[in-house]
Amino acid sequence: MTDLLLAGGEVVDAGAGLSGRLDVAVTGSVITAIGRDLDRAGAGRVVDVTGSLVAAGLVDLHTHVFAPGSALSIDPDVAGVLSGVTTVVDAGSSGPENFAEFAALLPGARTEVVPFVHIGRRGLAVKPDVTTADDLDPDGVRRVLSSSAGLVRGIKVRVVSPALQGPGLAMLRTARTVAREAGVPLMVHVGDIGGLAGPSVGPETLELLDAGDIVTHVFTANPGGVLDADGKLLPEARAAAERGVLFDSAHGCKNLSFDVARRVLDQGLPLHAVSTDLTLTGHGEIVFSLTEVMSRYLALGFDVPEVLTMATAGPAAAAGIADRAGRLAVGRPADLSVLSLASGDWSVSDSTGAALRLDRAFVPVLTVRAGAVVEPGEPPHPWGWEPTSVAASACC
Ligand SMILES: [Zn+2]
Repeated sequence: MTDLLLAGGEVVDAGAGLSGRLDVAVTGSVITAIGRDLDRAGAGRVVDVTGSLVAAGLVDLHTHVFAPGSALSIDPDVAGVLSGVTTVVDAGSSGPENFAEFAALLPGARTEVVPFVHIGRRGLAVKPDVTTADDLDPDGVRRVLSSSAGLVRGIKVRVVSPALQGPGLAMLRTARTVAREAGVPLMVHVGDIGGLAGPSVGPETLELLDAGDIVTHVFTANPGGVLDADGKLLPEARAAAERGVLFDSAHGCKNLSFDVARRVLDQGLPLHAVSTDLTLTGHGEIVFSLTEVMSRYLALGFDVPEVLTMATAGPAAAAGIADRAGRLAVGRPADLSVLSLASGDWSVSDSTGAALRLDRAFVPVLTVRAGAVVEPGEPPHPWGWEPTSVAASACC
């Protein structure tokens, strides 16, 4: 017995070797068949998705969804299932002192939330998150990791001022020690919004990262990123990529430059994930949603399967959930994103105010999360219709 049949969509999953017009059958919370012209008569519900793309459930590798415990956070379902996304990684909105409060909220979300715990005591519920070494809580992070039964998948560290003037990169070494003990990755924010990071911060940060660690905000125009002052890719960035360090674009309000993106990509650094760094403010300004962020990478030269991979298999692997997310296959959880590709003429802005013209945009049509169908929610503006221009602002 099939509970749900998504019929006639264009299935796109490069990693699974799937493309073309295929039906997807779901029973309970599991994918039970993928193929041509599956039996409709025996299905409890048939949804005709002709003309739409059908992908593994989108995974947003960098969001802030500890609402209301952290003022910058947004409701996980607004970032998630209501925006076409089945799984969001929370990037350090909570730390050891308030993690239990965050974890208690998660069963209320329809979206899967994968927390990365912050090395600072209260995560991003306080700003600045780290000022002195006393704000770091490695033992608390150890406790959270050992008691969370696999819920917490990594540790978040922000290489920014004023932490750089306080503990400095000793903060990153401390977090790294705990991460290596626990066998989880670090997610490292690069790009000092305070503008004070010296030229050695980027190279030294990259040298401390190991295979599986995540550089988030790789296209930042702020100091401490992967380019030198002349716009050349740091050799340490290339070496990090070669040893398996992962790179995530994490748009956010202040850490994405289209110019930096082009320079970094032209010099051959791989990109593993396109994420939002979605916050309450970012949802209304600049960032909006994962599908809109993904649309920008079409304009930056990636094709549809590549962008989808960077919003499914890439982030799922980085978050340590590749066993259950990021790929379409029989027997796996029924997390799916049905999207359409709208055509138009839009101008969007990066964090520096630079514009980019888009002629295509991903639009969420339906989200299937653990077998349940969710319609898109109220967007910041009509889905897929990017505003004609957005001014860079001081959000998040
Ligand atoms: Zn963030």
